[in-house]
Amino acid sequence: MKIVMLGAPGAGKGTQAKMIAKEYGIPHVSTGDIFRANIKEGTELGKEAKSYMDKGELVPDELTVRILLDRVAQDDCKNGYVLDGFPRTIPQAEVLDAELTKLNDAIDFAIDVDVPDENIIRRMSGRRACLKCGATYHIEHIPPKQEGICDACGSELVLRDDDKEETVKNRLDVYHKQTQPLIDFYTKKGVLKSVDGTVDSAEVFSAIKAILG
Ligand code: ADP
Ligand code: ADP
Ligand code: ZN
Repeated sequence: MKIVMLGAPGAGKGTQAKMIAKEYGIPHVSTGDIFRANIKEGTELGKEAKSYMDKGELVPDELTVRILLDRVAQDDCKNGYVLDGFPRTIPQAEVLDAELTKLNDAIDFAIDVDVPDENIIRRMSGRRACLKCGATYHIEHIPPKQEGICDACGSELVLRDDDKEETVKNRLDVYHKQTQPLIDFYTKKGVLKSVDGTVDSAEVFSAIKAILG
């Protein structure tokens, strides 16, 4: 099963993608997590990506597509994957589509997690991330067992540099201009499914399971 998660920054794509990955036994592939891991390790890729991420802009398509295609070519992706944060532009979606077509394959479901902008700003200021293992929490809605510490790996949780309010506003603009058109792209392919992302994360997941079967 090949799944694409769509939705604004902070809509809950990552939270749901991790639950899907666990339930269906497929890898969770997040371009944002790959970039952050590279930033942490101080690689050239990380340095380049950071200059865009800190401004709330998108990393250029060429670089992003290369990273993603490398990742999904790995063995563990053979039986499918859930993509979180990719594609984010029409050109990215077109390259992915062309690569899959070559393999006689296609995306099965594009799930749009729908959350209005007003809710997003509030959600992001409470998001805490583990840069070691990629786990994500929310100080009110999805708190870790011990404040400031990752349940999964015991590392310290941080407020991401790009989750400050000004940067979030810019990311929302970028989302509406560059990413929202993908809803139309996948609707035309007949694979778009929308879920209400404003309800409790367990309820969102139930709606997704009803779609995936
Ligand atoms: P969010 O929580 O907003 O969905 P991500 O972790 O997916 O955040 O992405 C963080 C940042 O990484 C983005 O704002 C962007 O700069 C960069 N990024 C991640 N995925 C992509 C992509 N597919 N194309 C371009 N830039 C990306
Ligand atoms: P995205 O990957 O779309 O940027 P995340 O999954 O990181 O979004 O979620 C953004 C923030 O909102 C995180 O702090 C997360 O814990 C929290 N969150 C996720 N789903 C819900 C939900 N259904 N209700 C409230 N908060 C949520
Ligand atoms: Zn962790």
